[in-house]
Amino acid sequence: MACRSRLAPIARRFSTPSAAAAVPAALLRSACASSSKLNNASTTTLRCLSSTPTRRFRDSAPCRGDGAGGYTTDSYPEIKRDSRFAQLTAEHVAYFRDLLGKDSAIIDGVTADVSAEDMEPYNGDWMRKYRGHCKLVLKPVSTEEVSKILKYCNDNLLAVVPQGGNTGLVGGSVPVFDEIVVSTSRMNQIRSFDEVSGVLVVDAGVVLQVADQFLAEKGYLFPLDLGAKGSCQIGGNVSTNAGGLRLLRYGSLHGSVLGIQAVLPDGTIVDDLCTLRKNNTGYDLKQLFIGGEGTIGMITAVSIQCPQRPKAVNVAFLGADSFEKIQLAFREAKSQLSEILSAFELMDSYSQDMVHRVRQSKRPLDDKHQFYCLIETSGSNSEHDAEKLEKFLEEVMAKEIIADGVLAQDETQVKSLWSQREGITECVGHFGGTYKYDVSIPLKDLYRLVDETRERIEAAGLKGDTDEFPVVEVVGYGHMGDCNLHLNVAVRRYDKRVEEVLEPFVYEWIGKVNGSISAEHGIGIAKKKYLGFSRNDTMVNLMKQVKKLYDPVSFFFFFSLENTSLPSSPNKTW
Ligand SMILES: Cc1cc2nc3c(=O)[nH]c(=O)nc-3n(C[C@H](O)[C@H](O)[C@H](O)COP(=O)(O)OP(=O)(O)OC[C@H]3O[C@@H](n4cnc5c(N)ncnc54)[C@H](O)[C@@H]3O)c2cc1C
Repeated sequence: MACRSRLAPIARRFSTPSAAAAVPAALLRSACASSSKLNNASTTTLRCLSSTPTRRFRDSAPCRGDGAGGYTTDSYPEIKRDSRFAQLTAEHVAYFRDLLGKDSAIIDGVTADVSAEDMEPYNGDWMRKYRGHCKLVLKPVSTEEVSKILKYCNDNLLAVVPQGGNTGLVGGSVPVFDEIVVSTSRMNQIRSFDEVSGVLVVDAGVVLQVADQFLAEKGYLFPLDLGAKGSCQIGGNVSTNAGGLRLLRYGSLHGSVLGIQAVLPDGTIVDDLCTLRKNNTGYDLKQLFIGGEGTIGMITAVSIQCPQRPKAVNVAFLGADSFEKIQLAFREAKSQLSEILSAFELMDSYSQDMVHRVRQSKRPLDDKHQFYCLIETSGSNSEHDAEKLEKFLEEVMAKEIIADGVLAQDETQVKSLWSQREGITECVGHFGGTYKYDVSIPLKDLYRLVDETRERIEAAGLKGDTDEFPVVEVVGYGHMGDCNLHLNVAVRRYDKRVEEVLEPFVYEWIGKVNGSISAEHGIGIAKKKYLGFSRNDTMVNLMKQVKKLYDPVSFFFFFSLENTSLPSSPNKTW
């Protein structure tokens, strides 16, 4: 009966930490304001997640590697610019200015003086780990403009990096040298929505949260949700094949994206903006762009199947005292909640300590536990769903799988509980930077990687409470429902000694358990040289052939890590 008495906290009203609730609302407003389509949109949603604004780098202390200037080229001197690519000239800039017309469509640091403040958001990444020397940012507004830009660049051997919301976590969205950034930020129109089929067609630059708000008004939901939704764009999401918080329920973008419009490096427009669910007419070539990270072309529009917005959303936050018990809870959740289970998220105590330390907010549960999980159900009948969830909670408590838990009573509490999970990325980065490993591992081994990594870091004497130690903490969390772990090492500064302890150790470890070195963030510059731990030679060679086919002039190739016959770019080739 002792465990039954713990049911009281589950049913109790959860008190909302004020900071956690206030931030998302403000960010939501700013995200909505960025869409011309949605300025009058109501902000009524079933749940409204926290969102991450584009980070302004001038606000933060530089945190990059050993290089004095904080550039990727300083931290990774082995990466060399390929001299066959042209240097930008005034003549090139004049062509782009003439093409794009508006002053606001170009940031020109080639022929004009632009402040570092204007250029920095395009040169530096979200983690403050990678930083390029870009001097020209182009912001086309249409597929035709993208086509003309890419063709001109191809003909003149100018390298480009496509950029969406620049929230990518593997260094793929920022240049290394003086590549031109082609930003989709002005391609932000919602093209069409079919209220019967639920098919949405959008420009690549529509911010994810804006699309979801638009759909909320129609009773639909965007089938992807992630912590960066206030900044990331749908073109970026599709290019990285982002997974996010509800892949468990709505599946991967490989299934929900119905069509894409893209531009190949030579300017060819690939118009495959199909809006049909069924289309077995030969190779499904759009799949190469989904998760292609801009290596074979630039996505300019996407059509996507959107599900009905669930009428009933319930969220529970539970504590357990071992990873084995969290696994048991997951099994029970799948078996008892089945069709209404929409998220099962894992958090270790270290990650929750970080959130608490940075935000100084109240913890959802009074006592501390080694592990926490957030369970969300989404369905159409709130009474039925709540009954199922409560029965599940009663059982996992009675079986002593779960030690304690709370159930959100209203939307504010739903938001607040979610912010405990979604806030981790931001809070872990608060101290300066994060070494991030987004990996898939068979569930039984999933958390062992975090423990072993922490042991290695401690054994190397790199972790401590004072400034002399680069590492603050090693934390683990992630989308447990998809076997997706985020191993994060929070650092005060990027430091080669830490990197050497972590790499290739983490990737070798993943290779041994047949995991994936990239579950959802992609390869970018960060993981290029470790691809072999997840893909065999045949697979890598097939990928190279695809790249060669779509990009024969190796337009997106720019600099060389290896002595291949083609110059190769760490973030635009595999
Ligand atoms: C707080 C936070 C939480 C996150 N949570 C998740 C998560 O849960 N799941 C997840 O999968 N990711 C997550 N991410 C990572 C990131 O948000 C995703 O990878 C996102 O999909 C990137 O979108 P973006 O518009 O910012 O793309 P960018 O960062 O601008 O670009 C990402 C890559 O795609 C390429 N690219 C961008 N636009 C195009 C285009 N139109 N055509 C071709 N290539 C293009 C870029 O060159 C780059 O290689 C998170 C990031 C943050 C900061």
